[in-house]
Amino acid sequence: MFTERVQRFDLNSGCELRFVANNFSDISLELLNGYAEIFGTELIPNQKYVFPAKFRAAVFSWTGGTIEIKGDTESAYISSESTAMVVYLNIHATLEKLRKDREASGKDTGVTQRGPRILLVGPTDVGKTTVSRILCNYAVRKGGTPILVDLDVGQNNISVPGSIGAMLVQKTADFVDGFERNMPLVLNFGHTSPGENLPLYEALLKALATTMNAEIEENPAAKLGGMIINTCGWVDGGGYTCILKSAAAFEVDVVVVIDHERLYNVLRRDLPDFVTVTHVPKSGGVEQRPRHIRKIARRENVHRYFYGTSSNQLYPFTLDLSFDAVVLCKIGAEPLPDSCLSFGMEVEDHRTKVVALEPSLEVKNHLFAFSRSSNVDANVLTFSVWGFCVVTEIDMEKRSLTILCPQNSIPSNILVYSVVTHLDDQLRR
Ligand code: ADP
Ligand code: MG
Repeated sequence: MFTERVQRFDLNSGCELRFVANNFSDISLELLNGYAEIFGTELIPNQKYVFPAKFRAAVFSWTGGTIEIKGDTESAYISSESTAMVVYLNIHATLEKLRKDREASGKDTGVTQRGPRILLVGPTDVGKTTVSRILCNYAVRKGGTPILVDLDVGQNNISVPGSIGAMLVQKTADFVDGFERNMPLVLNFGHTSPGENLPLYEALLKALATTMNAEIEENPAAKLGGMIINTCGWVDGGGYTCILKSAAAFEVDVVVVIDHERLYNVLRRDLPDFVTVTHVPKSGGVEQRPRHIRKIARRENVHRYFYGTSSNQLYPFTLDLSFDAVVLCKIGAEPLPDSCLSFGMEVEDHRTKVVALEPSLEVKNHLFAFSRSSNVDANVLTFSVWGFCVVTEIDMEKRSLTILCPQNSIPSNILVYSVVTHLDDQLRR
């Protein structure tokens, strides 16, 4: 008879259980006694949590606890290397102190102060996204409402790949689904690496920071909560410039460099003195993800955008639209020859130019953003987007296109191209 595998783990204080579910079926996990958390979200004792096939995480305990896992795991082991979590808790404590100090000085002056802004940087696969989650969770557990900003256009945790965004975090992250994507502010970059269009990336950083600065003026709690800013893993050359520009655009107080000593040293040299730069280790549990795994993660992210997750399903619509009902455009024109540049025009200008795009078979399977701009002009660049659709069919004869759309009508008729493609498999995971 089939018997389910049951594993029990006694975690000492400061230890973590790192597990990966098997490739084919769910596993369930329960905290039998004591205390434990997953990336900053507490486990409720005696509650069974289900994790899907291939899921990877670490259950950490500050005080000790017993964990039971039912079902097959690819791996499950206890690590007693506690340094990384202690360091992350110290960062949280520093941020919390800054929040308290600024809250107090706000009360003295009658003007709410901005909470601390922290930029997390480092190469790929060092745990930046995980640390941003831990810090947001800890802030929420202290009653705060931080803003999570995700500048990673490759693996974005707020919206689809190719975008950057920000959202208020009011609840701790779900173990599997992460943070609730609660009315995020999203800008469409349209590429999965900042290097594909650096001038545009820079313009978007500034636009996002400016919009967020204006929005928090309407919400004192969010203003005081500060910002936890996640970045992509490109740290050399243009990537390094992006880190400097991000720090400047968001006027960050702290830059945390994970696992890259040289980066730490050059940032200390290049950032202004009022920015605190710290170097922290990466956790030994962080997974190295080869290129193809990152690609799969991007595909799953787009799928999730339209169909939701197994515990929070979404039902997208298929809409047929006439070419005349929409205006397609893209950002970035072909460069003009030098002789055509008018006086004072920069060579870079063409890269941030909004240009019309004729519907063609080539846009099939591409994502498009619904712009909030009411005209095809420079606002398309910097205005946040309503959301995204994917073009699933193009009929050149009938002059119509079919899109997969989160809602049953288009929120805007200005659709902005993204190089990100997605093959809609219509499957629910
Ligand atoms: P980065 O953002 O720097 O690329 P991530 O935070 O996405 O890195 O981490 C990479 C992977 O490692 C993720 O799948 C994450 O869940 C996993 N991970 C992070 N920390 C741990 C840990 N302590 N134990 C096990 N897995 C971890
Ligand atoms: Mg990341």
